[in-house]
Amino acid sequence: MLYGREFHDESIITPIIAKTKASKVLRNVELISNKLKLKGKIDYLVITKFNELIPIEIKWSELEHGAVKRDHKLQLAAYSLMIEENFNKIVKRAIVYYTRIKKLITIPIDENIKNEVKHIMNEISKIVSNEEIPKMAKPKHCINCGFRVYCRQESF
Ligand code: SF4
Repeated sequence: MLYGREFHDESIITPIIAKTKASKVLRNVELISNKLKLKGKIDYLVITKFNELIPIEIKWSELEHGAVKRDHKLQLAAYSLMIEENFNKIVKRAIVYYTRIKKLITIPIDENIKNEVKHIMNEISKIVSNEEIPKMAKPKHCINCGFRVYCRQESF
């Protein structure tokens, strides 16, 4: 269930420890969710001195119009659900650390975003089990997509 190990990279971890009042920080925590049918590796998992669990993602990309990108929020909400399933604890917040600007941003993890992740995973599961070809996104969403080279978009 948990393959994390303690990590001591001061440059990245120091502001995270200070902000979260961490008593323990685990790195590269691999989790499996049977409910979501999902595997994931969290960059860091903080355990605060109040025994709160906080997933942390390190991003080298930029903010989007000064805010956390939607896919980063969804990624962290998915990790939060996986933590809840594996550790039997409610996750209320997650943090993204943008290395270029050295900024930590806290994302509230509420029921709305958790339900959004569940809905998306359900849709993906249906697509896989029915072997459906998923609908393409509008081209404006494809500009920074990592799957662009594999995709059917004739416009690229
Ligand atoms: S390139 Fe393909 S996979 Fe990526 S967002 Fe566009 S339609 Fe979706």
